[in-house]
This record gives sequence, structure tokens and C-alpha cells, in this order.
Amino acid sequence: MREPRSTVSAPAPDTDVAAADGKPVRGKKPGGSQARKFAKETQLGRVRRARRMNRALALAFPNAHCELDFTTPLELAVATILSAQCTDVRVNQTTPALFARYRSARDYAEADRVELEEYIRPTGFYRNKTTSLIGLGQALTEQYEGVLPHTLDELVRLPGIGRKTANVILGNAFDVPGITVDTHFGRLVRRWGWTTEEDPVKVEHAVGELIERKEWTMLSHRVIFHGRRVCHARKPACGACVLANDCPSFGAGPTDPATAAALIKGPEAEHLLELVGR
Ligand code: SF4
Repeated sequence: MREPRSTVSAPAPDTDVAAADGKPVRGKKPGGSQARKFAKETQLGRVRRARRMNRALALAFPNAHCELDFTTPLELAVATILSAQCTDVRVNQTTPALFARYRSARDYAEADRVELEEYIRPTGFYRNKTTSLIGLGQALTEQYEGVLPHTLDELVRLPGIGRKTANVILGNAFDVPGITVDTHFGRLVRRWGWTTEEDPVKVEHAVGELIERKEWTMLSHRVIFHGRRVCHARKPACGACVLANDCPSFGAGPTDPATAAALIKGPEAEHLLELVGR
């Protein structure tokens, strides 16, 4: 694996990550000289770096997409509600039978609660999720003739649909650019010094100021892909990361190329390693 082109030394454990406003990111101690490299970064510099990173992620994950299976906006809304505190894989195992049984908003509105609970039980928190799905079906039937609305303001007023879910629906079902701030997304953009914000709405706005609007939906997929496959919460694969040159947190995980390569997950592993010269 090639080293980042910049002069990078071993991580200094006592060095905080530089963040968007120059303040350190709480609780993060990686980076060393790589973090110092970005400590006095201007907003324009940050915009350029963020866009460069987005382009690198586009090369790394050309097939990034919503990992929930769906064929209609309603199915996507249901799958996204089920994905709370649950893996996409588990949701995708659950939804084929569910979608075959419940095809319309009215089906959810008129669902037998016990029966619906059994369908979605594997996704966890199934009682709350059943309440959300029945409520969603009722609201759509009563207010929107069973069809999902196309605006953030309308979507977030529906039962079970918060801002994150609304942005997933807008971006993936209606082609309206949206930034989806889930746990991976927030963790990574703070690691990258794009923002210090913890609140998802503030993160969304901060990232929206860095990245072109038309890129928002795909950026969200790419960041989530990167978080799941490379930039893990506990042991990021820094030594095999396509963002190493631009990441203030380089050194948060192993920088040894072979050790880092072994941490990369998913079907893109070979492609990712080729991009970093392995
Ligand atoms: S894996 Fe990449 S993006 Fe994540 S902290 Fe390491 S260098 Fe940064």
C-alpha cells in the first residue's frame, strides 16, 4: 500500500482531530501530523477537501446504493422504518413476505396488529414498529390517497418517519437530493473534520455547505459504504484507505498496509486494495 502522499508520521496519541471550526473533536485522539496538517484549514480549503474525498469515494464505490430492497416508495418507507436498530440484511430477509402480504397503505392501515407484529418481529422493537406502520398506513390513506408525499415537510409529519427516513425516501424513491445522517455518516464526517456537530440535523446542514446539492444522495451512500467496509468505528483500516491523504484521523486505526487490508470488508475489497496500490 502506498503511504499518503503527504508527510505522515505515526499517529500521536495525544493529538486531537482538527474540526471544521478549528476546535478539536471531542473524544477523538488520532491523527498526529496528519491532523495538524488540517488544523488551520479555511472553509474554502475544507470545501475542496470534502469534494475531493467525495470524488475518491465515488471511485471507490461506483455501485454505492441504498442497501434496503424495495420496489415502490411505500416499500422503501416501510423498510426504512424497520431498519431502526436493525441491520439492512435482516430487514431484507424480512420484507419479501411482508411486502407480499401488505401491498398498499390501506393494507397497513387495516392490518391485524398481532399478525403484522409476527411478520416484522425479526427486526426488533416490533411493537413500536407495528404502531408506526399502522399509523403510517392510516395517515397516507386519510391524507394522501395512499400515496407518499414528495416533500420533507410532509414526510416528517407522518408516523414513524423522521428526518433521516424522509431523506432516504426523497433521495432514493423521488430523486430529490437528501443527506442521510445515520450513525456511520455522523461518525465519519466528524472523523474527517467536516463538522464537530453531534446533532444529526446540524450535521446535515454542515455537510450540505461543503458538498454540491446534486451529490447529496450518492454521498450519503458512499459514506455509509465506507463506514461499513473500511472506516470501522473501533478499528478503521487507515493503512488501506483511499481517503488517507485527506483524513485528519489517519492513524486512528492500523497504518500498516497488510494489517489494514485484512480489516476491509465486503465484495469491493479487491477493488479498494487495487486503488491504494496493493
Ligand atoms: S479509515 Fe480512512 S477515513 Fe477512516 S480514519 Fe482511517 S484514514 Fe480516515
